Amino acid sequence: MNYELIKLPYEADALEPVISKETIAFHHGKHLAGYVNNLNSLTPNPSPRRGELYDGGSHRQLEALKELVLKSEGAILNNAGQILNHELYFGQFNAPKADKKPVGKLAEAIVRDFGSFEAFKEAFQKAGATLFGSGWAWLSADKDGKLVITQEPNAANPIQKGLKPLLTFDVWEHAYYLDYQNRRPDHLAALWQIIDWDVIEKRFSF
Ligand code: MN
Repeated sequence: MNYELIKLPYEADALEPVISKETIAFHHGKHLAGYVNNLNSLTPNPSPRRGELYDGGSHRQLEALKELVLKSEGAILNNAGQILNHELYFGQFNAPKADKKPVGKLAEAIVRDFGSFEAFKEAFQKAGATLFGSGWAWLSADKDGKLVITQEPNAANPIQKGLKPLLTFDVWEHAYYLDYQNRRPDHLAALWQIIDWDVIEKRFSF
């Protein structure tokens, strides 16, 4: 075992009613844990960090996952990509509040690149709602700090396009089916209540 399952920075029921504790139990405890187990069985001795144990959610594990995503293919790429995506996804939430908004330089960049926070939210939800099949909607920064929204299929991550990932909505059905069934747009519209914009601002700054 080399990669570890990220420990959630909140209780399993903390995101209710936006995401139920049942969904967290399956999504984190079964789906993400499955990707971690798969990757550990595919990379029993990842060189050059042979035998080293990573901490789930740590900077070192994230950097190792990014390296795997950029250099691997096939099953290793898919499982490393899904772990990276889910660490960024689960790490961006906290308890619901109706009026959560971005702050600081990120807030300014959103207005600059999308016109307003409301226009950004609309475009981001649309990216998630119209992504066909399984995948992820992403807000990323390019090398000049310009913000871009992309749709990434399956396990893809914006780092494969040279972008810095900031915020993501998981639109695999496992992310919402227990709570919202086929109503993916309703799930996406509710997610704004649990985004921790301080986390997104930090990802944008560093
Ligand atoms: Mn997922």
